[in-house]
Amino acid sequence: MELQIKDLSKTYSNGVHALKNVSLNIPQGMFGLLGPNGAGKSSLMRTLATLQQADSGSIMLDDIDILKDKGRVREILGYLPQEFGVYPKISSYNMLNHIASLKGISNKDERKDLVESLLNKTNLWDVRNKSLGTYSGGMKQRFGIAQALIGEPKLIVVDEPTAGLDPAERVRFHNLLSEIGENTIVILSTHIVDDVSNLCNNMAIICLGEVVAQGKPSALIENV
Ligand code: ADP
Ligand code: ADP
Repeated sequence: MELQIKDLSKTYSNGVHALKNVSLNIPQGMFGLLGPNGAGKSSLMRTLATLQQADSGSIMLDDIDILKDKGRVREILGYLPQEFGVYPKISSYNMLNHIASLKGISNKDERKDLVESLLNKTNLWDVRNKSLGTYSGGMKQRFGIAQALIGEPKLIVVDEPTAGLDPAERVRFHNLLSEIGENTIVILSTHIVDDVSNLCNNMAIICLGEVVAQGKPSALIENV
């Protein structure tokens, strides 16, 4: 499995060139997209999640055309946006159960098994009946991963997930990402060099909408 991004460009209506001929080959495993604020990371992530259109270029996941075949993309994609909002008055258990049924898992027992395994995997079992509005930032992010994993996505897009998390929560979140990164493609956008060097098998550096380097973290980041 490989994700191939070719010559992707996006200019917003205000004239900002957020993506300039971005080309990336992303294999299975954890991929880090490293860049400062304003580099174009979220623009690329939203385009991958088919939430906004590019002006030109293509994105292929093996034979799936991400920009054209949105129906199929929604089936294979898990997305955790940068600003992840939750419904404050519903519990994580009920919300995951609801999303699973929306995603077509109609068998009650199957849904129960799935929801329980996601709550365990993301360490939310103990708070499964508490409403999401009472969760800490780290708990919300872990819930975000749980909901993104419903449907066994092949591609998981995570946009700046650890902003605002305390160090212990960051470590916890990173461990979770490494676990799920084994047989999927996980794209992690971040401005934190350590996140990429600690977690990712491959990476790219993006700056002012342009890919300035791509390769192994050990080759691109000093002292790894
Ligand atoms: P488009 O130009 O593709 O139609 P929109 O103007 O609809 O995009 O904005 C999409 C999202 O980006 C919205 O959530 C909006 O709040 C956010 N946004 C708008 N302008 C900026 C900006 N300058 N920097 C970052 N985000 C922005
Ligand atoms: P990053 O995620 O790396 O911080 P973004 O993709 O959010 O980068 O932003 C890239 C550039 O595009 C920035 O200059 C930002 O202000 C601008 N931008 C992002 N979204 C919008 C939007 N919806 N409308 C206009 N400009 C935007």
